[in-house]
Amino acid sequence: MKKRHLIIGAGNAGLSAAAAIARLKPKDEIEIISDEPWAPYCRCLLTYYLEGKISEERLFSWGKEIIHKNRLDYHQNERVISVDTENLTIECESGRKSRADTILIATGGRPLKPDFPGADLPGIFTLRTFSDAQAIQKRLKPGGRWAVAGAGLVSIKTIAALRQHDIKIDLFASSNRILSQVLDPYSSDLAATKLAENQIEIHLNEEITAAEPAADNQLKITTSSDRELLVDGLLYGKGVAAAHPLDKNQVVDNSSQDNWSADQSKLPNPWQQMQNGIKVNSQLEFQPNIYAAGDTARIFDLARKQTDRLPLWPLAGEQGLFAGHNMTAATPNSNRHYPGGVSCNSFSLFGLDFISAGYREIPTDDRNWHSRKQKQAKFYSRLNFHKNQLKGFILCNANPDNINSLKKSGPLLARIKREAL
Ligand SMILES: Cc1cc2nc3c(=O)[nH]c(=O)nc-3n(C[C@H](O)[C@H](O)[C@H](O)COP(=O)(O)OP(=O)(O)OC[C@H]3O[C@@H](n4cnc5c(N)ncnc54)[C@H](O)[C@@H]3O)c2cc1C
Repeated sequence: MKKRHLIIGAGNAGLSAAAAIARLKPKDEIEIISDEPWAPYCRCLLTYYLEGKISEERLFSWGKEIIHKNRLDYHQNERVISVDTENLTIECESGRKSRADTILIATGGRPLKPDFPGADLPGIFTLRTFSDAQAIQKRLKPGGRWAVAGAGLVSIKTIAALRQHDIKIDLFASSNRILSQVLDPYSSDLAATKLAENQIEIHLNEEITAAEPAADNQLKITTSSDRELLVDGLLYGKGVAAAHPLDKNQVVDNSSQDNWSADQSKLPNPWQQMQNGIKVNSQLEFQPNIYAAGDTARIFDLARKQTDRLPLWPLAGEQGLFAGHNMTAATPNSNRHYPGGVSCNSFSLFGLDFISAGYREIPTDDRNWHSRKQKQAKFYSRLNFHKNQLKGFILCNANPDNINSLKKSGPLLARIKREAL
């Protein structure tokens, strides 16, 4: 029987689901809705777009091709404000309503906004969307000075892009090291040294506490160390929260239908859990015929054995494929179970390449854990084991002639997954 599917969000999760449905059930109807005013694009490439490495056309070519190839009914610039989970209906800000047999919530994440005095001033940005990138680009002045708050991956990728415009950067991190989520202290020091060599000033344990307008369209920022700095712009990159149009009344406790039985997460109440991502079961179903995937979903972290948000591009895509398959399944027995994912990041900083996955560090007070490290002049690797099971790794290479050393990451990632399963 022909079904109608509604997908909210046209990121990698939403588009991968739509493509899977179109392939499996070519006669089914698929409506895909995005609140962004253009075709879908590859979000990970935004910093390369800012850097000038890739064109606007290339940024959008991925999404345009999927929409075109699968002849998707794509509604842009339309915001979904509510989902009626019982009647399988959604309502948009425009007043339009739409009903379907299955709904996928693939609404991604939204960056945390600063809340210090002056946080709303022009010149203060987050980077999540193409409009953010355009706004940042308009403000860029070669030879200028910018501040960056937060030392996570998006901030670090943006810094590399800003440096290409000969912009001087001050990086403020509230923690005592940079990239603490994806590197261990040793590799974090390697990254910090590389940034310092490239004229980026790093201020650890220091936060921006206020901003005010200054002459020549600049901002005067003040920090927790009473430092005052005149900058042309400020990028705020202090994390991303799950974005979804569900509310408190729609919380359900679906833990009983959870096949991820090894889940050790202990979030106190279901609403707090949902603000931290929609908890789905292993079929990626939140409630009957309502699915969630990608950055907005809490899924099983294979390395850590608990549900969590794993906001990564490839994982959003694979969850989209599983969700799309299950949305077309004729009976629950034909559903496919998503085993879970492992967080894995790869990035390059001025010629220093990193790939890391799973546990980047280990608990120091537990004798069941050990690490194997290799430190050479231009290469660092660390493998982390729990009772001889590989749980995570970091590879770091600064030698362009030794790029093959990073190829180990594929088998290592596969081993973490295999041993976890
Ligand atoms: C600058 C940057 C660099 C990144 N680099 C990497 C990287 O190197 N590697 C990596 O793995 N990941 C990277 N990421 C993360 C990666 O982009 C995300 O994990 C991935 O895009 C998540 O896909 P998604 O489909 O879940 O959500 P999204 O890509 O966020 O898509 C969600 C879509 O839903 C729409 N939406 C939200 N709410 C509504 C609503 N109410 N109504 C209608 N539409 C709505 C949004 O506008 C958006 O278009 C990066 C992210 C950024 C911002």
